[in-house]
Amino acid sequence: MQTRLKKIGITPTRSLGQNFLKDESIAEREVNAADVKEEDTVLEIGPGLGTLTDEIVEVAGKTIAVEKDEKLVGYLAGRYKDYDFQIIEGDVLDIDIPDFDKVVSNLPFSISSPVTFKLLEHDFDLGILTYQKQFADRMRASVGEEGYCRLSVMVSTLAEVECLFDISRNQFYPPPNVDATVIRLTPTEPEFDLHYPKTFASVVKELFNYRRKKIKNSIETGFDVEIEDVPYGERRVETLTPEQIAELTEYLIENDIIESIEGG
Ligand code: SAM
Repeated sequence: MQTRLKKIGITPTRSLGQNFLKDESIAEREVNAADVKEEDTVLEIGPGLGTLTDEIVEVAGKTIAVEKDEKLVGYLAGRYKDYDFQIIEGDVLDIDIPDFDKVVSNLPFSISSPVTFKLLEHDFDLGILTYQKQFADRMRASVGEEGYCRLSVMVSTLAEVECLFDISRNQFYPPPNVDATVIRLTPTEPEFDLHYPKTFASVVKELFNYRRKKIKNSIETGFDVEIEDVPYGERRVETLTPEQIAELTEYLIENDIIESIEGG
């Protein structure tokens, strides 16, 4: 692997989360878990040297890869020229992601949070995604548990998360500081009425921006409004279930305290 990196002129960069998977059998396990069919378009974020991509292109109808490092982009375009493979050079957080059915990625850990929020705005069948172990625990935290946060609320509302297996840090070159976990993310319908999903997302964001404040104060500061009282006004956000936050969102819209951003 070091020889290949040298040939392409890459010195792994920490800020790009460049920890490359060494073991092909792990890549195979991840792609098997995605159960990719010939009709599937698979998105890969950060293909790197292509350890996962090698497996994906063999089974996917089409592969779309987004890579920020321009040196890798040229290398990957050449490597997969005989496949239905589209490479987009850029920051996945800045681009409009084309439609896809499945996403399989060993994500750069530094963008785990924003990239997960971005993926959840898309309509797709499933994701096989590698995160830091601790991050995956936060994704699955319920109200009252340690780590319950904006991410836990959004993920538990819009998807199911299942931990599949761990990857030791030593399976990457260079090794990151922590071990990783592969999860299956399956977008689902919310288990409660969610009439204003976009506004809900923005309320969740503001409430967790001011997580130490009481709900009434977080709403006032976050949305620059003045209110007499709201449901759960004296509580803190970490004590509210996603359903209660959805109820609060409806109250705020229906009482003209904030505007709905649906369709906007
Ligand atoms: N998939 C490869 C593997 O498993 O060996 C590489 C994974 S490495 C953890 C992360 C990759 O994401 C690197 O290739 C890095 O250049 C790329 N990357 C980092 N930040 C990115 C961003 N914001 N948008 C797109 N790609 C990014």
